Amino acid sequence: MIGKFEQAGNIYPNRNFKWRTGLQNLGNTCYMNAAVQCLSKVKPIKRFFRKQQVDMQDREQDGYNYKLLEEFQKLIIFLWEGYPMLSPKEFVNQAYTLCPDYRPKTQQDSQEFLRFLLDSIDSTLRHITGSSIISDTFVGTIECKTTCRGCKSVSTRDESFLDLSLAIPSEISPKSYDMMEWKDKSYMEEAKNSWFNQVKSYFWKGGGNIISIYDCLIHHFKPEVLNQEDNLYYCSQCESKNEANQEHKIKKLPQILIINLKRFKYAYWGSKVSTYVQIPFKLNLSQFSCDEGSQKYQLIAVMQHYGAIWKGHYIAYCKDTKRNKWFEYDDLRVREVSESDIVNAQVYIAFYEKTEKI
Ligand SMILES: [Zn+2]
Repeated sequence: MIGKFEQAGNIYPNRNFKWRTGLQNLGNTCYMNAAVQCLSKVKPIKRFFRKQQVDMQDREQDGYNYKLLEEFQKLIIFLWEGYPMLSPKEFVNQAYTLCPDYRPKTQQDSQEFLRFLLDSIDSTLRHITGSSIISDTFVGTIECKTTCRGCKSVSTRDESFLDLSLAIPSEISPKSYDMMEWKDKSYMEEAKNSWFNQVKSYFWKGGGNIISIYDCLIHHFKPEVLNQEDNLYYCSQCESKNEANQEHKIKKLPQILIINLKRFKYAYWGSKVSTYVQIPFKLNLSQFSCDEGSQKYQLIAVMQHYGAIWKGHYIAYCKDTKRNKWFEYDDLRVREVSESDIVNAQVYIAFYEKTEKI
């Protein structure tokens, strides 16, 4: 699995390389590398695959993706051995075998790949062990509450989610700034005062405003009125289609929350929303959740996409929370970066870890 680097014979694991292992790009595989780097830094995932290795010997080929799980597990283990670099060849080959869409040398969407990978590992783990670290770590529940406008009766329905997929609104909510912690507010002020933003606000009305992830959340969770012919609500009390009010709240917050921004539109030629969205280091979801546990999160990893839709590049940033350091993973190149590098990134996917303190 370590491929040519190990065979070269002169590259040995070294604890100084922990957090600093790069992954070789095997022909447009930066989207896989970025996803794997982020997942390998998620504490429950790292702990699980390093300590309770799943035994996949003598497994029959009965429709489950043992090979992909096996290669993923190896990759996580090796990423923490302290090699300066690894070649994820076998893992990449398994992904290509299982999902023909990921054929070699094509540019792919990292978010779709992340879902495919997590779904595949989740179902295989469940099949082998009866439980899954993937669901235990990433899955949350959203409660959808509908109130019939005719009889006022309320019905609720729960939906589970693996990630929150948020559209980027064009308008800023007056509440979003107040939701931020002081440090994120000061980064916001810095971004507002940047020369680029000054120029923008000079030429465009409202151009000086900056969208934050709180604006995306407010937009996503705003109450809806179902009053159009095609979205009327069937009320079982009234036994007819009626207008209704609908509200969504997070009922169970996951240990690790994955948020992705809907930057890509695939219709026809496809296009990309390049709007800068500020990703706070601390996230408080109390406005959007009725979970009775902690509703506070800290940012632990982000995936950045830059460039155009079909020929961009993915880079991961992950935080060593113990030493309070951020690292950038650009395929084989790994370097320590500052918090402002994270603030300035064009974030596509963000990983937040639940915390008691904020
Ligand atoms: Zn009704």
